Amino acid sequence: MRFSKAFIPTLKETPAEAEIPSHRLMIRSGMLRKLGSGLYTYLPLAQRVIHKIEKIVREELDNIGCQELLMPIIQPEEIWQLSGRWDIYGPELMRLEDRHERMFALGPTHEEVITLLAKYDIKSYRELPINLYQIQTKFRDEIRPRFGVMRAREFTMKDAYSFHTDNVSLEETYQKMYKAYDRIFERCGLEFSAVEADVGAIGGSDSHEFMALAETGESEVLNCECGYAATAENCKISPLENIKVEKELPLEKVHTPDKKSVEEVSNFLDIDKKQIIKTIMYNSDNELVAFLIRGDREINDVKVANLLNSINLEFASDDEIAGELDSVAGFVGPVGNKSIRIFADKNLKDAMNMVAGADEKDYHYKNVSLGRDCNVTEFVDIVQAKKGDKCPKCGKRMNSYRGIEVGQIFQLGDKYSKAMEATFTDSDGKEVPFEMGCYGIGITRTMAAAIEQNYDDYGIKWPLPIAPYQVELINLSTRSDAIVSFCDKLYKELKQNNVEILYDDRDIQPGVKFNDADLIGIPIQIVVGQRNFKKEKIEYKLRHDNKKITMDKDKIVVKVLELIEKFSQ
Ligand code: ATP
Ligand code: MG
Repeated sequence: MRFSKAFIPTLKETPAEAEIPSHRLMIRSGMLRKLGSGLYTYLPLAQRVIHKIEKIVREELDNIGCQELLMPIIQPEEIWQLSGRWDIYGPELMRLEDRHERMFALGPTHEEVITLLAKYDIKSYRELPINLYQIQTKFRDEIRPRFGVMRAREFTMKDAYSFHTDNVSLEETYQKMYKAYDRIFERCGLEFSAVEADVGAIGGSDSHEFMALAETGESEVLNCECGYAATAENCKISPLENIKVEKELPLEKVHTPDKKSVEEVSNFLDIDKKQIIKTIMYNSDNELVAFLIRGDREINDVKVANLLNSINLEFASDDEIAGELDSVAGFVGPVGNKSIRIFADKNLKDAMNMVAGADEKDYHYKNVSLGRDCNVTEFVDIVQAKKGDKCPKCGKRMNSYRGIEVGQIFQLGDKYSKAMEATFTDSDGKEVPFEMGCYGIGITRTMAAAIEQNYDDYGIKWPLPIAPYQVELINLSTRSDAIVSFCDKLYKELKQNNVEILYDDRDIQPGVKFNDADLIGIPIQIVVGQRNFKKEKIEYKLRHDNKKITMDKDKIVVKVLELIEKFSQ
């Protein structure tokens, strides 16, 4: 491609709304333009990267026997009613109405459509297992679209679904997919790891998330020397060290004027945050529920939602706390006989002489003992694990890092097939629901994650296998006939050798060409300028280490082919 003809609108200025490097660089390098919140146009450079990632995905999946199909984006409400997800999915599901006032969803995933397909078209155990996938635009009305294509409302996903006679077969395919995912992300040049994950709205039992390591990642991963790794939201909490108490003291009400937060109360009463019980009020599907955790810890919403089987989980409002609980926001506590369910962190089970809100403005209780003073419904795991906590597997202290979730795999079991009565005839002639697995990869998010791991102050450094072009040829002397003719010839020859090449033939300042080349980040740059050319030399630079090497100009084709071979995985 000649740069003079290419649609690559690079920008000098950093766009104000872009908060992370990949978003900034995709806009500046002329890959991406925003249409609305979470809605983007992929310009030709981005589209080339997307096609490359898709190609890798297709090769690896086809290689393990998956078959590609394509399902409709628009899905009738009825099938979502059958699975029960029409109500559960909540506002993230984009819904629309047709001219006959029938409701539809824009697919955020396709479990319903594919389960229905299997219900009607897979009849016998002889046809199983089968693994079907598609690569398609998905829609999710994210509450907070951000970071460009990282969390968009319209994005490209590869979604695969497998059907099985039993668990053993499902587990086998799950392992195969796990390995295929390893190869896919390796070939995309990502540094990543697979971690135990929460199943979220998709449901099922076993699940792993594939995390691309990046400081800007939205997910926190806790990991341990022993090999255990889980997302913070999914990590089980190990016993915490509580403050030792010698003797249970009588309950005492104390004046704590305007002291609401744990910080304020601990300073005011001069006590450790560990000695405070934080009471967090949720509204879960119109039921007020109290959660008690130690003052020095944070609650984990995902654990709470899973525990309560919530469809809609929100913090209770001040009015609800005043009206339904006869308490005061900021001073809510667990003492006395309450009409609501109270769940407490299991680490609080034997806690004594704690401080908690007294359900009265400007007052707290001292010396609260949960066993004596409160009616706790159940002691449960609701605390967010963090770095330094003990590993739930081996007990050593865990570390943490941040990651971008680029893929997730699930063992769904018969959740969908049962709900939608999707069955097959087993070898005994019985009708049995399918065992299912589902497997997603964010194609467009993977592109952003690759940038997040490969950039410097000047721009992107594409890993060769997913770079929009493999080589950029930069002609610095577009007014020299000899150099133009050399470059034209080199361009042609490399193309004939199937090299993907962007040829900067523009009649502009060399500085602009160099800046654009570094910004766009093509892995191999070839620079042809007067000084070297006179000596029959040429310069090339590898963008990943920015090293420049001068060599005989006649040897460049062989060298480029060698470099491509070396950096293609
Ligand atoms: P997240 O937790 O980041 O919201 P998710 O767990 O809801 O993602 P899945 O349902 O597992 O996502 O979807 C499969 C893959 O699709 C994810 O691993 C991710 O790479 C990608 N993906 C999900 N949501 C988005 C989004 N809003 N924008 C871009 N990619 C997304
Ligand atoms: Mg996920």
